[in-house]
Amino acid sequence: MTGAHRLAAGCAAALAFATTVAACSDISAPLRNEVYEWRLFVPAASGDGADTLSFHWDRSFLPVRVWVENTAGLPGHMDRAITTWESVYLYREFTAEIVSDSSDADVIVRGTDAPAPQTSRTRLRSAMAPQCRGATDLDVTPDNRDLLLPIRVFVAPSAVPGTPGLEDCLALTSIHELGHALGIFQHSPNPTDIMFADPSVLLPSPLDRGTAEVLYHVAPTLEAVRR
Ligand SMILES: [Zn+2]
Repeated sequence: MTGAHRLAAGCAAALAFATTVAACSDISAPLRNEVYEWRLFVPAASGDGADTLSFHWDRSFLPVRVWVENTAGLPGHMDRAITTWESVYLYREFTAEIVSDSSDADVIVRGTDAPAPQTSRTRLRSAMAPQCRGATDLDVTPDNRDLLLPIRVFVAPSAVPGTPGLEDCLALTSIHELGHALGIFQHSPNPTDIMFADPSVLLPSPLDRGTAEVLYHVAPTLEAVRR
């Protein structure tokens, strides 16, 4: 992303979500179409209306510690997903590393289906391709203030090893689910984005990248809490 695009993307967030737009007054191009809605809308803690949840990793958590179950080639796919998302950021706003101890991890990736009954309050289901499927569980406290760690990611093969399309499915689903774990809590409405609910593109689009970039420059409503 060029400097001009980065500035435009940052201003898009400011225009959409802040009351002051003075800092963006020198940008004349239309800006809002450079991001999609990434925030999650949930029933309000007060019981009336909805709360808007926005999250990104604070610098103090970086690099985010990711533990990956050693099955179906997931460690390799997730390592590439980390590199892919890190490349979005010019100032290393998001970084992650794979760790060997799951008890020490802030994101846990398993090669199985998300468990039922659901134990977390919010489950983002995605990737309903024939070859594999994914989900990300976010455990948000009832007051909608804290995101209890770890974030739990599930990337499960639906086909036997060697099935055409399986590796691509696992690769793009790993990127998609890590996109949720870094703070994109909504699905894109566009099939050309990797954060579309049923993604088919192999890499983040310019819109995915712009959204991921902007959300690290908007104050989060959720605070990550280790337990
Ligand atoms: Zn998803």
